[in-house]
Amino acid sequence: MRLLLVEDDDLLADSLSEVLEDEGYRVDVAALVREAKALMASEEYNLVILDLGLPDGSGLDLLGCWRREGHALPILALTARDSWEDKVSGLRRGADDYLTKPYHEAELLARLHALLRRGSNAVESILRLNGIALDEATKQVCGIDDRWHTLTATEFCLLRYLMRHPGRVHSKIRLLDQLYTLEQDAAAPNLVEVYVGRLRRLLGKNVIQTRRGQGYVFPSH
Ligand code: CA
Repeated sequence: MRLLLVEDDDLLADSLSEVLEDEGYRVDVAALVREAKALMASEEYNLVILDLGLPDGSGLDLLGCWRREGHALPILALTARDSWEDKVSGLRRGADDYLTKPYHEAELLARLHALLRRGSNAVESILRLNGIALDEATKQVCGIDDRWHTLTATEFCLLRYLMRHPGRVHSKIRLLDQLYTLEQDAAAPNLVEVYVGRLRRLLGKNVIQTRRGQGYVFPSH
């Protein structure tokens, strides 16, 4: 899941994107209206977190502009002012939800998950294959024991990648590339083994198969 965070406060943007990346989201940050416009025009996002108070223009106008252009993705608006006028005009212009600063990160995450879940109703957000169901909004997986388990961000990214590309052999290096949460660390290929091991313990040992010397495969049947 890829998010656009529009926030001109550097400290806030850094700490929030760190929290979101820990949750397994990929985050682009824009500090200005014009940067946000350029990113939205060139990239595909699942959700936007939009601070309404920006230095080079109005977040409300930006919101209205995106909606007129037909961008239908969920937008969570942030405002420093707890004014009902802002909320009303924001919701009129197409914000899906609101959060007033200062907010608790846990609350922001809860709202964000709710929006992603709501937004993905039209497009099935649950990947199902070989008796495994993976809920992309909540990062929960349901296996043969018929119980839902919450995955860590890295486990989730790995499993989602394998389930989206079934029947193909993926080398450890390729899989590492997909686990962007590991990019910051000097990631070693054997980390992939560790995460595959954890998923097997949770879902059964045949759910991900090893091709010796080549990599891993999530069978397509
Ligand atoms: Ca601001």
